[in-house]
Amino acid sequence: MSSVKEKRFRKLKRKKIWPSIVAFILFTLLCVGMIVLFLQLFALYIMGTKIVQQYGEMKNVKAVINGFLESGESIADAVISQRKYTFGENDIYVMDADGEMLIKTGNSEPDFELVLDFKLDRELGLDEGFVAVADSENQFVHDNGDFTIFAMPVDEVIKRTFSPGREDQSVGSWLSETIITQGYWLRAPLGEGEYDAYVKCIIQLQRQDVFYICIFGIIALLILMIPIILLFINTIRSIVTQRRMTQIIYLDTVTGGKNWFYFRNYAERILTRKINSKKPFAIVNLHLERYQNYCACYGVKAGEELLEAMDGFLKARIGKNEFFARFEGADFGMLLACEGVNEQENQEYCRKRMRSLLAELSGLKPDQKIHFHAGINMIPPYVPKDGKWYHTRKNVDINQLYTYANAARVTSECAEEKQITFFDQEMLEKQVWERWVEDTMEEALNNEEFQVYLQPKYSPLNGKLVGAEALVRWISPTEGFIAPGRFIPIFEDTGFVTQLDDYMISRVAKLQAEWMIQGKKMIPISVNVSRAHFAQEGLAEHICQLVDAYGPRHELIELEVTESAFFDDKDILVKTVKQLKAFGFHVSMDDFGAGYSSLNSLKDIPLDVLKLDGEFFSGDDDDGRGQVVVKEAIQLARNLDMRVVAEGIEKKEQVDFLASQGCDMIQGFYFAKPMPIEEFEKKVEKDA
Ligand code: C2E
Ligand code: MG
Ligand code: MG
Repeated sequence: MSSVKEKRFRKLKRKKIWPSIVAFILFTLLCVGMIVLFLQLFALYIMGTKIVQQYGEMKNVKAVINGFLESGESIADAVISQRKYTFGENDIYVMDADGEMLIKTGNSEPDFELVLDFKLDRELGLDEGFVAVADSENQFVHDNGDFTIFAMPVDEVIKRTFSPGREDQSVGSWLSETIITQGYWLRAPLGEGEYDAYVKCIIQLQRQDVFYICIFGIIALLILMIPIILLFINTIRSIVTQRRMTQIIYLDTVTGGKNWFYFRNYAERILTRKINSKKPFAIVNLHLERYQNYCACYGVKAGEELLEAMDGFLKARIGKNEFFARFEGADFGMLLACEGVNEQENQEYCRKRMRSLLAELSGLKPDQKIHFHAGINMIPPYVPKDGKWYHTRKNVDINQLYTYANAARVTSECAEEKQITFFDQEMLEKQVWERWVEDTMEEALNNEEFQVYLQPKYSPLNGKLVGAEALVRWISPTEGFIAPGRFIPIFEDTGFVTQLDDYMISRVAKLQAEWMIQGKKMIPISVNVSRAHFAQEGLAEHICQLVDAYGPRHELIELEVTESAFFDDKDILVKTVKQLKAFGFHVSMDDFGAGYSSLNSLKDIPLDVLKLDGEFFSGDDDDGRGQVVVKEAIQLARNLDMRVVAEGIEKKEQVDFLASQGCDMIQGFYFAKPMPIEEFEKKVEKDA
């Protein structure tokens, strides 16, 4: 998944769920708040109406008593006369302006200090100067910081509300039964302010009052529940959709397990966790060999079932803090947690684990042969430069780390016995080099950065220069002098070597033509032709055209074919060699003896020259066995009417021995190294 898509997905994920959840929570809180507020207001309303009624009565009493006082009656007479009409059995407490108690009825007293505020200012008419104070025996006074009111614990109210009534009681009387009785005192200034009269008022809460409040609450709750439920369903649906979407995005449709996108996220999370920064890990590329072939033989469905089985198998073998997912095709990526104290132990741990894993995997289909390769990229513990522990791993790019593991695996692919390969820096450098060569080779050819070097061949009999081999050298403006061993194998892999060979043949043909025109001594030159070239139809005609473009005699050019080419399509090879010979070119077998010598090929292919590989002459030959082989090889070539060139000759004894055996030419550092054309021309003047 591209990073743009990834970003979009993450955004989508955040967007989808949170608005619904937040809306649901806010709305629910709002509703609960509203219900609580309504209930409080309703309760206050019920209480308020009772209190307002008592204040109203008090107003009337105050007016009447003041009337009595004005008509000259004593305060005691005025109060007592009013008591039986208005307050009934209410307790009364009257004091004068000095605070001296004048009248007191009943057993209770006001709590002068605890002033109550019912927050009913408008209804109560404060212009009368009334003040409510608590009763000295008050149980339910609550100071909320702002004002002081009555408050009873909810559980107590509920207990009293739902307490069973008497057996003979009717429903109506049960409902109207008083469940809470609370007294408070109302203070009224009398006369000209000479007296303060306190009258005890009783507030009673009936069972039905609580029921009204409850019914009101339930109705409000029911009304608000509808949008809450709808919103809740919507939120749950959003979450479920989101989860399904996430599952689909993280699903590998072939194995049914997790896909690469998930692997990347998960592995990155594990590696970058602070707690894991000191732990070693490894990223593994697990590859099922010849999967396409498996599908072709057993069907795509069977192939996918195999991958599914692999997924199930790996799931059972993977530990905590580890993970795996299919990358693509038959490649799986794995993140392994290592258990070693140093690099070597970690590697050993991974090797052992992967070895047993691969062995078990190979037995997944007992009646079918399946084979696996693995590349491992070790991720050492993170060691910060300042030595502090709280760092996290830097620059964790799972794709890159996996690519390295993959690169390691690819290098071992050809070697069947090497099932597990570890990635190392050298491998990376090799890959970087290969990329550079591939990227620049065409431009280099156009810019004529490839130069022809010539290595002379000498006759051991008279020590004369009798031939040369054209060897390519890459003189790069950035990399400098590059030996063919560093780029020819890459050219062979990419097929570019055919273009290089053409270039070299043309250059050599041109050189020969120039020598001819300049009247110089003509020296036969051999040119290497890659085995990749021999797969081409019409190669002989093609070479002929290249040479004829400059016009030198064909017999001055020899074409060197490496021995390994003889293992490819032999029929084409025989045909091409015969055609080349018919055109007058010489053909030689290069590096004879370096690989598995195909003696049989010598029988079928009419070659002109046999080039004995330098390997014959390297190292010690104390027991003389090497000499026996060389002697017989020369004899064989002679019997087949072929000339022999010995390569890689560095010592005089070797020259003497080859001369004694009748070797035709010697090419080696003993006589000369490969050199630029101008230098070679000087050598010809001297040695030829
Ligand atoms: P080759 O064709 O077998 O060339 C002989 C190699 O042996 C050359 O290496 C040469 O420098 C080296 N050599 C010669 N005498 C001695 C000696 O006495 N001691 C030692 N140690 N080495 C000696 P070079 O030039 O590095 O080329 C390596 C190979 O690259 C060639 O092996 C050939 O297979 C390939 N190559 C070189 N130029 C071309 C080319 O133009 N086209 C193709 N297709 N391959 C080329
Ligand atoms: Mg050669
Ligand atoms: Mg050779």
